[in-house]
Amino acid sequence: MPSTILNADLHCHSIVSDGTLTPEALAARAAANGVELWALTDHDEVGGQHRARAAAHAQGMRYLTGTEISVTFAGQTVHIVGLGFDADDQRLQQGLRQTRGGRAQRAQEMAQGLAQVGIRGAYEGALQFVGNPDLISRTHFARFLVESGVCGDTHEVFRKYLTEGKPGFVPHRWATLRDALSWIQDAGGVAVIAHPARYAFTANEEFALFTEFKSHGGRAVEVMTGSHSSAECVRYAAMAHEFDLAASRGSDFHSPDESHTDLGSLPYLPGELTPVWELLADRIQ
Ligand code: AMP
Ligand code: MN
Ligand code: MN
Ligand code: MN
Repeated sequence: MPSTILNADLHCHSIVSDGTLTPEALAARAAANGVELWALTDHDEVGGQHRARAAAHAQGMRYLTGTEISVTFAGQTVHIVGLGFDADDQRLQQGLRQTRGGRAQRAQEMAQGLAQVGIRGAYEGALQFVGNPDLISRTHFARFLVESGVCGDTHEVFRKYLTEGKPGFVPHRWATLRDALSWIQDAGGVAVIAHPARYAFTANEEFALFTEFKSHGGRAVEVMTGSHSSAECVRYAAMAHEFDLAASRGSDFHSPDESHTDLGSLPYLPGELTPVWELLADRIQ
């Protein structure tokens, strides 16, 4: 059987970032859905890794450590997933702490922007949904705006309030691509370009992203993700070939109420690709 035939889910979020389930509840849900190899990839955080690994083992799954690092590239936010690193690595932890650093100030500015269009108390409101005080994200604002009846669902909140040019959007400078890759790789892990179809890059900018990612040692790209259409999966399978990158698979599950792709529910990776878990065979726990 080709090594791509594996129910691996290597991208999801817990209450340690902007998911709504604990690492233990996610592990139980993943196992119930047939996941064999799992990674929890909280944004800019590895604080849930030891719990997630223990929960994975209790559920009979194999585990890879994970995180999803926010990076600024060509003026836009790009997400880089790291897999199979040492979660106790001090430079990685320091880099992630630094990346989380501006979030509180940014959240205050987001609330000011929302107040100017008549939405009061958004900072305090978003905080009610935060599981990790160090990691307030746009998702927590979205949940507050849905709960308070301003919008019907979180996607509507992002469209009307939280994306570029909208009242609650605050431009932010995240980590550099070079730093994010060195933190992951120096800790023994592999870097993966997350959901590549989600960025509003020109063809030239996308080419630059893939080229620079490779030049800094990046080795994989998400092909099967909850945020790709089937046409986008085909397109990034071709990109994986073109750039000689391994392929990853992950739902990007955040919440039973918000995520349309459940843990472990994506199609398998196409058989002609090298799965990222082949590069990480000795890092699987
Ligand atoms: P932040 O890191 O604070 O900028 O928040 C980014 C997070 O917002 C992403 O990881 C997603 O969970 C969520 N997000 C971004 N765009 C959307 C969207 N259009 N609809 C719903 N959630 C989104
Ligand atoms: Mn998220
Ligand atoms: Mn992402
Ligand atoms: Mn994600």
